[in-house]
Amino acid sequence: MAEKRDYYEVLGVERTATEADIKRAYRSMARKFHPDVNRESHAEERFKEINEAHEVLSNADRRAAYDRFGHAATGANMGGDPFGFGGSPFGDIFESFFGGSTTGQRRRQAPPRGADVQLTVELTFEEAVFGVEKEVEVDRLEACDACRGSRMEGGKIPPACTACGGSGEVRRVQQTILGQFMTAGPCPTCQGEGVTITDPCHVCHGRGRTRHYRTISVNVPAGIDDGAALRLSGQGEHAPNGGAPGNLYVKVRVKPHRYFTRSGRTIHSEIGINVAQAVLGDEIEIDTIDGPVVFTIPGGTQSGQQFRLRGKGVPDLRSSSNGSGGDRGEQLVTIRVVVPKKLTDEQRELFEQLAMSLGNEVHPQPTNRRLFDRVKDALGV
Ligand SMILES: [Zn+2]
Ligand SMILES: [Zn+2]
Repeated sequence: MAEKRDYYEVLGVERTATEADIKRAYRSMARKFHPDVNRESHAEERFKEINEAHEVLSNADRRAAYDRFGHAATGANMGGDPFGFGGSPFGDIFESFFGGSTTGQRRRQAPPRGADVQLTVELTFEEAVFGVEKEVEVDRLEACDACRGSRMEGGKIPPACTACGGSGEVRRVQQTILGQFMTAGPCPTCQGEGVTITDPCHVCHGRGRTRHYRTISVNVPAGIDDGAALRLSGQGEHAPNGGAPGNLYVKVRVKPHRYFTRSGRTIHSEIGINVAQAVLGDEIEIDTIDGPVVFTIPGGTQSGQQFRLRGKGVPDLRSSSNGSGGDRGEQLVTIRVVVPKKLTDEQRELFEQLAMSLGNEVHPQPTNRRLFDRVKDALGV
């Protein structure tokens, strides 16, 4: 494709043009170059170009972005729109062709947006922690390539409905005992659309949209959690009448990990040590999401005791998505002292010696007593 022309130049307006100027210029240009009216070979290309320019310049946000960054900004804003042609441009054309005073108001309402599309993506525990680029398959309705959403063969403009004269609305006079009443409702012939599809496009059968399977790359930020949803603006279905496309919502499901669980930014794990390690302390390897680290268990470690490994948890989602690297949470390791069920002869002998040395006294558990007292205080008994 040739280099893109400046959008203001395409519409033949100044950079300072008002919204109304742009609309007026667009209408006259679109009328001049509509492929149905203009049979010259370049007309179709020009028509597309005019619509694209109008689409950007008629939207205040997109126009501002274009003013600052040029075509690069609109390219980014167009997202996955593969035609550079977000939806059908015909809504506005109708307005200029058929827009009498009766239809003006009705058609001024923004056309409905395209439907949102939702899907679920499954991540491993590690992918959710560190972030990942995932490709998802999206099945969505897009403006028909053949008729560019006009619904008519070859992209022709559909003629106004003869029943309602293009207004999409019919008025009926009802006689009642209280007198005459005028009621207005959508035209039954055209279902309120104001046009008749006399020669339906053979590709979309006059629907204006066709189903497409698209592979879309989703940037999943580090630190995302199970059940979260990502919104991809404008990546949903195209609207039937030139409205904005819907959004794509990607819901995240995180598969459970064999050793790790997670609550917020904390990763939990458990580790089993033997009685001697608990009593004497030891230097052991602990698995973290970044790989094993050496950790020193102090002597006298109790079963159920917890240790923190700072910086081994989940990155902060907000700081990871703004590219600042992400503040890592911590890993909470719970120690389980594993009491052996089977002993070798030698071990049995050693434990028997130990038993003799330790004696057979039983000690009340001070922690439980304190808990009991606290409960008693709290209840005031
Ligand atoms: Zn079509
Ligand atoms: Zn009608």
